[in-house]
Amino acid sequence: MGLESGQLLPEIRLTDRELLRRREESLSHSERPWNVVLGCQPVSEGCVACLAQARLDVHNANAGQTVDWSRRGAAVELEQALTEPAAWSTPQRVMIAPLSDLFQPTVSGLFIERVLKVVAAHPQHVFLLTTRYPRRMREALQAHPAPQNLGIGVSAEDAAALEERLPYLFDIEARWRHLLLEPLLSAVDIERIELPTRDILWPLEGIVQQYLGLDADNQPQWLPKSDPLRRLPPLDWVIAGGERGRAPRPPHPAWLRTIRDACLRQRTPFFFRGWGDYVPTRKPDAEDPGLMVVSEDGVRRGRGAGSAINHFAIGATDVHFTRLARGDEPIQFFLDGRRHLGMPEQRAPERRLSPSDASILERELQRLTPPALARKPG
Ligand code: SF4
Repeated sequence: MGLESGQLLPEIRLTDRELLRRREESLSHSERPWNVVLGCQPVSEGCVACLAQARLDVHNANAGQTVDWSRRGAAVELEQALTEPAAWSTPQRVMIAPLSDLFQPTVSGLFIERVLKVVAAHPQHVFLLTTRYPRRMREALQAHPAPQNLGIGVSAEDAAALEERLPYLFDIEARWRHLLLEPLLSAVDIERIELPTRDILWPLEGIVQQYLGLDADNQPQWLPKSDPLRRLPPLDWVIAGGERGRAPRPPHPAWLRTIRDACLRQRTPFFFRGWGDYVPTRKPDAEDPGLMVVSEDGVRRGRGAGSAINHFAIGATDVHFTRLARGDEPIQFFLDGRRHLGMPEQRAPERRLSPSDASILERELQRLTPPALARKPG
Protein backbone atom coordinates (compact mmCIF):
# COMPACT_ATOMS: atom_id res chain seq x y z
CA MET A 1 0.00 0.00 0.00
CA GLY A 2 1.30 3.46 -0.86
CA LEU A 3 1.98 6.16 1.71
CA GLU A 4 -0.67 8.77 2.27
CA SER A 5 -0.13 12.52 2.27
CA GLY A 6 1.36 13.72 5.54
CA GLN A 7 2.96 10.42 6.57
CA LEU A 8 6.57 10.40 7.63
CA LEU A 9 9.09 9.88 4.87
CA PRO A 10 10.44 6.33 4.93
CA GLU A 11 14.17 5.92 5.27
CA ILE A 12 15.94 7.03 2.11
CA ARG A 13 17.50 4.08 0.37
CA LEU A 14 21.25 3.93 0.75
CA THR A 15 21.60 3.90 -3.01
CA ASP A 16 19.86 7.29 -3.25
CA ARG A 17 22.14 8.78 -0.63
CA GLU A 18 25.20 7.27 -2.25
CA LEU A 19 24.21 8.45 -5.72
CA LEU A 20 23.55 11.89 -4.31
CA ARG A 21 26.85 12.05 -2.45
CA ARG A 22 28.80 11.16 -5.58
CA ARG A 23 26.80 13.60 -7.67
CA GLU A 24 27.28 16.46 -5.22
CA GLU A 25 30.98 15.72 -4.94
CA SER A 26 31.37 15.78 -8.72
CA LEU A 27 29.49 19.08 -8.88
CA SER A 28 31.40 20.79 -6.14
CA HIS A 29 34.87 20.59 -7.73
CA SER A 30 34.76 24.04 -9.23
CA GLU A 31 31.64 25.71 -7.89
CA ARG A 32 29.97 26.04 -4.54
CA PRO A 33 26.39 24.73 -4.60
CA TRP A 34 23.71 27.14 -3.40
CA ASN A 35 20.53 25.13 -2.85
CA VAL A 36 17.86 27.81 -2.85
CA VAL A 37 15.24 25.46 -4.28
CA LEU A 38 14.93 21.69 -4.02
CA GLY A 39 12.84 19.22 -6.01
CA CYS A 40 11.87 19.65 -9.63
CA GLN A 41 9.45 18.75 -12.38
CA PRO A 42 11.08 16.60 -15.07
CA VAL A 43 10.80 18.23 -18.48
CA SER A 44 12.59 15.99 -20.95
CA GLU A 45 14.61 12.82 -21.58
CA GLY A 46 17.67 14.30 -19.86
CA CYS A 47 15.72 14.38 -16.57
CA VAL A 48 15.34 10.59 -16.34
CA ALA A 49 18.29 10.07 -13.99
CA CYS A 50 17.91 13.40 -12.18
CA LEU A 51 18.46 13.37 -8.43
CA ALA A 52 16.33 16.43 -7.65
CA GLN A 53 13.63 14.42 -5.91
CA ALA A 54 16.22 12.32 -4.02
CA ARG A 55 17.89 15.55 -2.87
CA LEU A 56 14.58 16.87 -1.60
CA ASP A 57 13.77 13.55 0.09
CA VAL A 58 17.10 13.58 1.91
CA HIS A 59 16.53 17.20 2.96
CA ASN A 60 13.07 16.31 4.31
CA ALA A 61 14.31 13.20 6.06
CA ASN A 62 17.15 15.13 7.72
CA ALA A 63 14.70 17.76 8.87
CA GLY A 64 12.33 15.07 10.18
CA GLN A 65 9.61 16.55 8.03
CA THR A 66 6.42 15.00 6.86
CA VAL A 67 5.87 14.75 3.14
CA ASP A 68 2.86 15.64 1.10
CA TRP A 69 3.08 12.87 -1.48
CA SER A 70 0.53 14.57 -3.70
CA ARG A 71 3.06 17.38 -4.18
CA ARG A 72 6.01 15.29 -5.33
CA GLY A 73 7.56 17.03 -8.27
CA ALA A 74 6.81 20.49 -6.87
CA ALA A 75 9.71 22.71 -5.86
CA VAL A 76 10.42 23.77 -2.31
CA GLU A 77 11.75 27.32 -1.88
CA LEU A 78 14.34 27.51 0.88
CA GLU A 79 13.89 30.86 2.59
CA GLN A 80 16.82 30.34 4.93
CA ALA A 81 19.24 29.83 2.01
CA LEU A 82 18.77 33.44 0.89
CA THR A 83 21.06 34.65 3.67
CA GLU A 84 23.90 32.19 2.95
CA PRO A 85 25.92 34.28 0.42
CA ALA A 86 26.36 37.02 3.03
CA ALA A 87 28.11 34.48 5.28
CA TRP A 88 30.75 33.36 2.76
CA SER A 89 33.87 35.21 3.82
CA THR A 90 35.83 34.80 0.55
CA PRO A 91 34.67 35.37 -3.07
CA GLN A 92 33.09 32.23 -4.46
CA ARG A 93 31.98 30.74 -7.77
CA VAL A 94 28.47 29.63 -6.97
CA MET A 95 26.17 27.23 -8.78
CA ILE A 96 22.55 28.20 -8.12
CA ALA A 97 20.32 25.19 -7.40
CA PRO A 98 22.61 22.60 -9.08
CA LEU A 99 20.23 19.75 -8.25
CA SER A 100 17.04 21.58 -9.12
CA ASP A 101 15.91 24.32 -11.51
CA LEU A 102 15.10 27.85 -10.40
CA PHE A 103 12.83 28.42 -13.40
CA GLN A 104 10.65 25.32 -13.12
CA PRO A 105 6.94 26.17 -13.10
CA THR A 106 6.36 25.59 -9.38
CA VAL A 107 8.87 28.22 -8.19
CA SER A 108 7.06 31.52 -7.66
CA GLY A 109 8.02 34.61 -9.65
CA LEU A 110 8.45 36.44 -6.37
CA PHE A 111 11.02 33.94 -5.12
CA ILE A 112 12.97 34.15 -8.39
CA GLU A 113 13.03 37.93 -7.98
CA ARG A 114 14.36 37.56 -4.44
CA VAL A 115 17.12 35.20 -5.55
CA LEU A 116 18.17 37.69 -8.23
CA LYS A 117 18.23 40.49 -5.64
CA VAL A 118 20.52 38.42 -3.41
CA VAL A 119 22.82 37.73 -6.37
CA ALA A 120 23.00 41.44 -7.23
CA ALA A 121 23.65 42.32 -3.61
CA HIS A 122 26.77 40.10 -3.42
CA PRO A 123 28.94 41.30 -6.28
CA GLN A 124 32.05 39.71 -4.77
CA HIS A 125 30.73 36.27 -5.83
CA VAL A 126 30.19 34.91 -9.36
CA PHE A 127 26.86 33.08 -9.63
CA LEU A 128 26.01 30.58 -12.36
CA LEU A 129 22.50 29.61 -13.26
CA THR A 130 21.58 26.77 -15.63
CA THR A 131 18.08 25.81 -16.72
CA ARG A 132 16.04 23.44 -18.81
CA TYR A 133 13.23 26.03 -18.66
CA PRO A 134 14.80 28.85 -20.71
CA ARG A 135 11.52 30.49 -21.69
CA ARG A 136 10.79 31.24 -18.05
CA MET A 137 14.37 32.38 -17.50
CA ARG A 138 13.93 34.85 -20.37
CA GLU A 139 10.70 36.18 -18.89
CA ALA A 140 12.31 36.60 -15.47
CA LEU A 141 15.48 38.26 -16.74
CA GLN A 142 13.62 40.56 -19.07
CA ALA A 143 11.52 41.75 -16.13
CA HIS A 144 14.56 42.00 -13.80
CA PRO A 145 17.82 42.47 -15.73
CA ALA A 146 20.54 39.91 -14.99
CA PRO A 147 23.03 41.16 -12.38
CA GLN A 148 26.59 41.74 -13.64
CA ASN A 149 27.93 38.89 -11.51
CA LEU A 150 25.51 36.32 -12.96
CA GLY A 151 26.32 33.84 -15.74
CA ILE A 152 23.34 32.15 -17.36
CA GLY A 153 23.12 28.90 -19.26
CA VAL A 154 20.82 26.31 -20.71
CA SER A 155 21.10 22.58 -20.34
CA ALA A 156 20.32 20.22 -23.22
CA GLU A 157 20.75 16.50 -23.71
CA ASP A 158 20.09 16.01 -27.41
CA ALA A 159 19.73 17.84 -30.70
CA ALA A 160 16.02 18.62 -30.29
CA ALA A 161 16.47 20.08 -26.79
CA LEU A 162 19.48 22.09 -27.95
CA GLU A 163 17.63 23.63 -30.90
CA GLU A 164 14.66 24.50 -28.73
CA ARG A 165 16.53 25.91 -25.71
CA LEU A 166 19.75 27.52 -26.86
CA PRO A 167 18.20 30.38 -28.88
CA TYR A 168 16.55 31.73 -25.70
CA LEU A 169 19.99 32.32 -24.24
CA PHE A 170 20.74 34.82 -26.99
CA ASP A 171 17.54 36.70 -26.27
CA ILE A 172 18.66 37.69 -22.78
CA GLU A 173 21.09 40.43 -21.78
CA ALA A 174 23.71 38.80 -19.59
CA ARG A 175 27.41 39.15 -18.94
CA TRP A 176 28.26 35.46 -19.48
CA ARG A 177 26.48 32.60 -21.24
CA HIS A 178 27.17 28.89 -21.07
CA LEU A 179 25.82 25.66 -22.51
CA LEU A 180 25.63 22.45 -20.46
CA LEU A 181 25.37 19.24 -22.49
CA GLU A 182 24.82 16.68 -19.76
CA PRO A 183 23.78 13.94 -19.86
CA LEU A 184 24.71 13.90 -23.52
CA LEU A 185 22.35 11.45 -25.21
CA SER A 186 22.85 12.14 -28.92
CA ALA A 187 25.05 13.91 -31.43
CA VAL A 188 24.51 17.68 -31.41
CA ASP A 189 25.66 20.50 -33.65
CA ILE A 190 26.65 23.37 -31.40
CA GLU A 191 27.99 25.47 -34.27
CA ARG A 192 24.86 25.95 -36.34
CA ILE A 193 21.24 26.17 -35.22
CA GLU A 194 18.45 26.81 -37.67
CA LEU A 195 15.82 29.06 -36.09
CA PRO A 196 12.06 28.78 -36.81
CA THR A 197 12.46 31.76 -39.19
CA ARG A 198 15.15 29.70 -41.02
CA ASP A 199 17.74 32.32 -40.08
CA ILE A 200 20.81 30.55 -38.71
CA LEU A 201 22.26 31.11 -35.27
CA TRP A 202 26.01 30.46 -35.00
CA PRO A 203 26.31 30.32 -31.19
CA LEU A 204 30.10 30.09 -30.93
CA GLU A 205 30.60 33.03 -33.28
CA GLY A 206 27.70 35.15 -32.06
CA ILE A 207 26.17 35.62 -35.48
CA VAL A 208 22.63 35.35 -36.85
CA GLN A 209 22.72 34.73 -40.58
CA GLN A 210 19.73 35.93 -42.56
CA TYR A 211 17.56 33.53 -44.56
CA LEU A 212 16.71 34.83 -48.02
CA GLY A 213 14.25 32.23 -49.26
CA LEU A 214 14.36 29.53 -51.92
CA ASP A 215 16.19 30.02 -55.19
CA ALA A 216 14.94 28.95 -58.63
CA ASP A 217 16.01 25.35 -57.89
CA ASN A 218 14.11 25.35 -54.60
CA GLN A 219 17.34 25.49 -52.62
CA PRO A 220 17.44 27.62 -49.42
CA GLN A 221 19.65 30.69 -49.61
CA TRP A 222 21.23 32.79 -46.86
CA LEU A 223 23.13 36.07 -46.87
CA PRO A 224 26.85 35.47 -46.23
CA LYS A 225 27.91 35.25 -42.59
CA SER A 226 30.12 38.24 -43.21
CA ASP A 227 26.94 40.33 -43.60
CA PRO A 228 25.00 39.11 -40.54
CA LEU A 229 21.47 39.99 -39.56
CA ARG A 230 22.59 40.35 -35.93
CA ARG A 231 25.84 40.23 -34.00
CA LEU A 232 25.65 38.88 -30.46
CA PRO A 233 28.12 38.03 -27.75
CA PRO A 234 29.22 34.44 -28.50
CA LEU A 235 28.85 31.58 -26.03
CA ASP A 236 31.48 31.87 -23.30
CA TRP A 237 31.62 28.26 -22.19
CA VAL A 238 30.58 24.75 -23.19
CA ILE A 239 30.42 21.91 -20.67
CA ALA A 240 29.65 18.30 -21.60
CA GLY A 241 29.47 14.94 -19.91
CA GLY A 242 27.82 11.55 -19.67
CA GLU A 243 25.08 10.27 -17.41
CA ARG A 244 25.26 8.98 -13.85
CA GLY A 245 22.51 7.23 -11.97
CA ARG A 246 20.61 3.99 -11.86
CA ALA A 247 20.43 3.21 -15.59
CA PRO A 248 22.99 5.50 -17.20
CA ARG A 249 23.15 5.85 -20.98
CA PRO A 250 26.75 6.44 -22.07
CA PRO A 251 27.60 8.92 -24.82
CA HIS A 252 29.40 7.91 -28.02
CA PRO A 253 32.91 9.48 -28.12
CA ALA A 254 32.22 10.88 -31.60
CA TRP A 255 29.57 13.19 -30.10
CA LEU A 256 32.03 14.56 -27.54
CA ARG A 257 34.81 14.93 -30.09
CA THR A 258 32.55 16.98 -32.36
CA ILE A 259 31.73 19.33 -29.47
CA ARG A 260 35.37 19.59 -28.35
CA ASP A 261 36.62 20.24 -31.89
CA ALA A 262 34.01 22.94 -32.51
CA CYS A 263 35.10 24.67 -29.29
CA LEU A 264 38.76 24.38 -30.26
CA ARG A 265 38.07 25.90 -33.67
CA GLN A 266 36.23 28.86 -32.19
CA ARG A 267 38.44 29.14 -29.08
CA THR A 268 35.50 28.59 -26.78
CA PRO A 269 36.50 27.13 -23.40
CA PHE A 270 35.42 23.48 -23.21
CA PHE A 271 35.02 21.56 -19.96
CA PHE A 272 34.63 17.78 -20.05
CA ARG A 273 32.81 16.68 -16.92
CA GLY A 274 33.45 13.00 -17.51
CA TRP A 275 31.94 9.94 -19.15
CA GLY A 276 29.45 9.27 -16.39
CA ASP A 277 29.05 5.81 -14.89
CA TYR A 278 30.21 3.96 -18.01
CA VAL A 279 33.77 4.41 -19.26
CA PRO A 280 35.22 3.54 -22.67
CA THR A 281 37.00 0.24 -22.99
CA ARG A 282 39.43 -0.70 -25.73
CA LYS A 283 39.38 -4.38 -24.88
CA PRO A 284 35.74 -5.24 -24.31
CA ASP A 285 35.14 -8.49 -22.53
CA ALA A 286 32.22 -10.14 -24.29
CA GLU A 287 31.31 -11.95 -21.07
CA ASP A 288 31.24 -8.82 -18.91
CA PRO A 289 27.68 -8.23 -17.69
CA GLY A 290 28.66 -4.58 -17.06
CA LEU A 291 29.34 -3.98 -20.74
CA MET A 292 27.27 -1.47 -22.70
CA VAL A 293 27.41 -0.68 -26.40
CA VAL A 294 26.21 2.50 -28.05
CA SER A 295 26.00 3.19 -31.76
CA GLU A 296 27.12 6.47 -33.26
CA ASP A 297 23.58 7.40 -34.30
CA GLY A 298 22.47 6.70 -30.71
CA VAL A 299 19.69 4.41 -31.94
CA ARG A 300 21.21 1.14 -30.78
CA ARG A 301 22.15 0.76 -27.15
CA GLY A 302 22.67 -2.61 -25.58
CA ARG A 303 23.56 -3.61 -22.08
CA GLY A 304 25.16 -6.81 -20.85
CA ALA A 305 27.24 -9.59 -22.29
CA GLY A 306 24.55 -10.89 -24.65
CA SER A 307 24.17 -7.53 -26.33
CA ALA A 308 27.94 -7.15 -26.68
CA ILE A 309 28.25 -10.61 -28.21
CA ASN A 310 25.57 -9.59 -30.69
CA HIS A 311 27.60 -6.62 -31.79
CA PHE A 312 30.80 -8.65 -31.99
CA ALA A 313 28.91 -11.21 -34.05
CA ILE A 314 27.51 -8.73 -36.55
CA GLY A 315 30.85 -6.91 -36.69
CA ALA A 316 29.24 -3.50 -36.10
CA THR A 317 31.83 -0.82 -36.75
CA ASP A 318 29.96 2.24 -35.51
CA VAL A 319 29.46 0.95 -31.99
CA HIS A 320 31.45 2.06 -29.02
CA PHE A 321 32.11 -0.30 -26.13
CA THR A 322 31.89 0.89 -22.56
CA ARG A 323 31.98 -0.83 -19.21
CA LEU A 324 30.68 0.13 -15.79
CA ALA A 325 33.26 2.23 -13.97
CA ARG A 326 34.67 0.65 -10.83
CA GLY A 327 34.29 3.43 -8.33
CA ASP A 328 35.99 6.69 -9.24
CA GLU A 329 38.52 5.85 -11.96
CA PRO A 330 40.73 8.58 -13.47
CA ILE A 331 39.77 7.37 -16.97
CA GLN A 332 36.29 8.79 -16.31
CA PHE A 333 37.62 12.30 -16.86
CA PHE A 334 39.84 11.78 -19.91
CA LEU A 335 38.79 12.33 -23.51
CA ASP A 336 41.31 11.03 -26.05
CA GLY A 337 44.00 10.85 -23.39
CA ARG A 338 43.63 14.29 -21.90
CA ARG A 339 41.50 16.30 -19.56
CA HIS A 340 39.59 19.31 -20.81
CA LEU A 341 39.12 21.86 -18.07
CA GLY A 342 38.47 25.00 -20.09
CA MET A 343 36.78 27.80 -18.18
CA PRO A 344 36.08 31.39 -19.13
CA GLU A 345 37.56 34.27 -17.21
CA GLN A 346 34.68 35.20 -14.92
CA ARG A 347 35.76 37.80 -12.41
CA ALA A 348 33.30 39.45 -10.15
CA PRO A 349 33.78 43.08 -9.23
CA GLU A 350 35.70 43.20 -5.96
CA ARG A 351 33.16 45.36 -4.23
CA ARG A 352 31.65 43.84 -1.12
CA LEU A 353 28.32 44.38 0.51
CA SER A 354 28.50 47.48 2.68
CA PRO A 355 26.38 47.83 5.83
CA SER A 356 24.03 50.19 3.99
CA ASP A 357 23.76 47.74 1.03
CA ALA A 358 22.92 45.03 3.54
CA SER A 359 20.11 47.00 5.08
CA ILE A 360 18.74 47.89 1.63
CA LEU A 361 18.78 44.20 0.74
CA GLU A 362 17.08 43.29 3.99
CA ARG A 363 14.31 45.82 3.23
CA GLU A 364 13.98 44.60 -0.38
CA LEU A 365 13.71 40.96 0.65
CA GLN A 366 11.19 41.90 3.28
CA ARG A 367 9.16 43.82 0.66
CA LEU A 368 9.18 40.75 -1.61
CA THR A 369 8.32 38.28 1.12
CA PRO A 370 4.86 36.75 0.68
CA PRO A 371 2.57 37.95 3.49
CA ALA A 372 2.35 34.45 5.02
CA LEU A 373 6.13 34.40 5.55
CA ALA A 374 6.67 38.02 6.53
CA ARG A 375 7.76 38.65 10.11
CA LYS A 376 5.00 40.07 12.18
CA PRO A 377 5.89 43.37 13.86
CA GLY A 378 6.99 42.58 17.41
S1 SF4 B 1 14.95 20.17 -15.17
FE1 SF4 B 1 16.95 19.66 -14.25
S2 SF4 B 1 16.55 19.58 -12.06
FE2 SF4 B 1 14.58 19.48 -13.09
S3 SF4 B 1 14.11 17.30 -13.27
FE3 SF4 B 1 15.14 17.94 -15.16
S4 SF4 B 1 17.33 17.54 -14.82
FE4 SF4 B 1 16.30 17.52 -12.84
